[in-house]
Amino acid sequence: MKSFEYAIPSSLEEASSLLAQSWGETEILAGGTDLVTSLKQQVTAPKRVVSLRNISSLKGITVQRQSVRIGAMTTLADLTANSAVKEHFPALVKAVQGIGSQQIISAGTVGGDLCQRPRCWYYRNGFGLFGKQGDTSLVLEGDNRYHAIFGNEGPAYFVSASSLGPALIALGATLKISGTKGKTREVAAREFFRTPKSESERETVLRPNEILFEITIPIRGLKNATYEVRHRQGLDWPYVTATVSFALKGGTASNASVVLGHVAPVPWPSAAASKALNGARIDASLAAKCGQAATEGAKPLSGNAYKLQLVKTAVKRAVLDAAAAA
Ligand SMILES: Cc1cc2nc3c(=O)[nH]c(=O)nc-3n(C[C@H](O)[C@H](O)[C@H](O)COP(=O)(O)OP(=O)(O)OC[C@H]3O[C@@H](n4cnc5c(N)ncnc54)[C@H](O)[C@@H]3O)c2cc1C
Repeated sequence: MKSFEYAIPSSLEEASSLLAQSWGETEILAGGTDLVTSLKQQVTAPKRVVSLRNISSLKGITVQRQSVRIGAMTTLADLTANSAVKEHFPALVKAVQGIGSQQIISAGTVGGDLCQRPRCWYYRNGFGLFGKQGDTSLVLEGDNRYHAIFGNEGPAYFVSASSLGPALIALGATLKISGTKGKTREVAAREFFRTPKSESERETVLRPNEILFEITIPIRGLKNATYEVRHRQGLDWPYVTATVSFALKGGTASNASVVLGHVAPVPWPSAAASKALNGARIDASLAAKCGQAATEGAKPLSGNAYKLQLVKTAVKRAVLDAAAAA
């Protein structure tokens, strides 16, 4: 690990003022479960690390009549322990429960999960965000079994590593971002993630001196569920996830949203699967039809066509789980 200056401000404004205007000069530290690994492996080597640990306003969950507000420094453990979150957003709870280990759930934060960097093994081994050696794409030429099947026109082929992202998009969440001089802005969760086109960009709309400070999820009475397909119940990320949410009246779905995870450089809303759900009566055959629709537009790379079947299965099971939920 290269040495760096360590700052531990006690307000958001102070924290923003300690952040540089270009990526890589400074890094934000939350629970450290992702950043510390990147520092050790010198995937990033900032001059300063700014910890959010002492900013008490970033921690905790507030339940209001029509929404739940989650501070970005709330741990994943506290998120899943909250009774309102459990009652209204089982899709989110399921997404957290799949994460690696109790230690990561206890130390990792909601903001850190959403801002975690890609797990692409070429990126993590020093070949840059796009996994290139000179002009050669190591992803296209090499082992791409865990890479994207959607939105993979390049140069980004990695998948968004956040399991919470798809769930928050399907639940219609809004993210609040703080910048310098106390300025704040809001973005819909579905606008928060983006596919970088150059090495000087990152995977979200955050600017280098901005901090994600709050997530608000509306309480809309929607049925919702997440289904994950994993290699093992252990220290790993899923192959594919699907979160679905919809209103259900007399067995018929409306206001549906289907969002896939770990299949594209961003969480991947499936318009075709959502369309298949809207206005339809939910049963096993409709769920299978949604799964099939969710694969529309996929372009697997040489080693990851197996994900197509996983998408079909994850969506089908998420639809049935959501419909069956109390
Ligand atoms: C073995 C293992 C398995 C895992 N499995 C999964 C999984 O299945 N699904 C999944 O979703 N995740 C998984 N994770 C990732 C884990 O959820 C994240 O490491 C964790 O949530 C990051 O939170 P943190 O608070 O530790 O973030 P940190 O490590 O402190 O930060 C992570 C990144 O986010 C930035 N950041 C943090 N907070 C903010 C903020 N408020 N505003 C702006 N930028 C910020 C940091 O600068 C850094 O780049 C796994 C991790 C491990 C080690």
